Amino acid sequence: MSDMGMIIDGGRMAAAASFDVTNPSTGEIVGSAPNATPDDLDKAVSAAKVAFETWSKKSDAELAAACEAVAARIGEHAEELAHLLTKEQGKPLNGLGSRFELGGAQAWAGHTAGLSLPMKVLQDTNEGRIELHRNPVGVVGSITPWNWPVMIAVWHILPAVRTGNTVVIKPSPYTPLSTLRLVEIMNEVLPAGVVNAVASDDQLHNIGAAMAAHPDIRKMVFTGSIATGKRVMMTAAETMKRLTLELGGNDAGIVLPDVDAKQIAEGLFWGGFINNGQTCAAMKRLYVHEDVYDDVCDALVDYARNVTVGDGLDETSVLGPIANQMQFDKVKRLVDDAKTKGRVLLGGEPGEGLYFAPTIIADLSHDDPLVAEEQFGPALPIVKYSDIEEVIALANDSENGLGGSVWSKDTGKAKEIARRLQCGSVWINKHGAIQPNAPFGGVKSSGLGVEFGEEGLAEYTDIQVVYC
Ligand code: NAD
Repeated sequence: MSDMGMIIDGGRMAAAASFDVTNPSTGEIVGSAPNATPDDLDKAVSAAKVAFETWSKKSDAELAAACEAVAARIGEHAEELAHLLTKEQGKPLNGLGSRFELGGAQAWAGHTAGLSLPMKVLQDTNEGRIELHRNPVGVVGSITPWNWPVMIAVWHILPAVRTGNTVVIKPSPYTPLSTLRLVEIMNEVLPAGVVNAVASDDQLHNIGAAMAAHPDIRKMVFTGSIATGKRVMMTAAETMKRLTLELGGNDAGIVLPDVDAKQIAEGLFWGGFINNGQTCAAMKRLYVHEDVYDDVCDALVDYARNVTVGDGLDETSVLGPIANQMQFDKVKRLVDDAKTKGRVLLGGEPGEGLYFAPTIIADLSHDDPLVAEEQFGPALPIVKYSDIEEVIALANDSENGLGGSVWSKDTGKAKEIARRLQCGSVWINKHGAIQPNAPFGGVKSSGLGVEFGEEGLAEYTDIQVVYC
């Protein structure tokens, strides 16, 4: 059993109450997490506020070295964290699962350590010198979802501490244990209070909402659904917090008539089914030109039927169960509806417990709920199209604007279409491949601001201009 406490001011702190975390592969209890109260949150924020006084005055080299040390620590504990993550999230150790996530966490931490935002001289003339400095904002509140909890925690924490801020993180109630342990490991190499973690079942108290309202938190970085992101934004307005919001997506993939169906089948599959489709920038609706429609459907199904789904701890699994009952019920509702409207090419039926076999449903229309809503699960809808202008309009006909992709042998033509898609990232002949050196974020309701790269780092700073 992995029972965890809060991590406040450098060490574990028990909460008065706790809640159980279950393994979606088996339904067994993995361990217990502390159920924080608003008083506990105050303690964590106070510790971060005190630590900020010293941390914010560290030199750039000291901050970079601390982030390097964190990256190394993640690497040393990768296997332990991967097992804990698999047990609470359900994703397999192998494939694009927990070990892949830990590899990403270490890579992102290392890359962030190497970034910096040096002072810029805007003017240096007889009329005067003007310098642009970037100051840390203070205590950063981080709220994370359950799909990639360890990697997203690193995406929030590392740029914050790299720029001299301190952090209080609150993971999802479904996957708190790996984050609490990650933060405990970070505290082996960081001064007390720089990174703190609380957890909440969202029922005893809504600690996420309390963070967004907290007067001593100066910035919120939130990754989760559009609905909750809007609530965070409204609550944070009262104290004029800085915001980075990474929200939901309903990414379209557009397949042009010149593709070789067999060649793109693997990329299409993993674009849609990475982490069982529970990925913000997964391909969530696929539009295929009528000339290659049957070939693409056949090739995709041929690839998908050979994918091994099973218990995450089984080394042969490359996909696990859906991560929790709430998400399972949503996927089942959307699939049940789609079965009455389209043609099931693969899957369509739930398995035991939270298992749901990869499901591909063709002949759907743009307005069918499986196409129009973010399913966030292992069910990909396919829509046939004949006119490129029409399909671009359909892809853009969404409040979401996270990612998109275009698939073609003619990469020049694909790029022209890609540039017309209203989304923050767009890929050609792949989908969802993000990198630490490229800014990532959504347009429209998919979010506000970006993460990664210098642009992402800058979001953890306020500009101060000095007129010398
Ligand atoms: P969610 O919005 O239900 O929960 C996210 C977090 O918000 C959790 O930690 C939850 O406890 C907390 N929370 C709940 N109520 C709150 C409130 N009133 N105020 C503040 N916080 C509150 O999302 P989820 O189901 O955990 O995650 C899935 C969603 O996240 C999907 O829509 C997915 O697309 C999105 N997502 C986006 C990105 C991205 O980078 N754009 C990445 C991963 C996931």
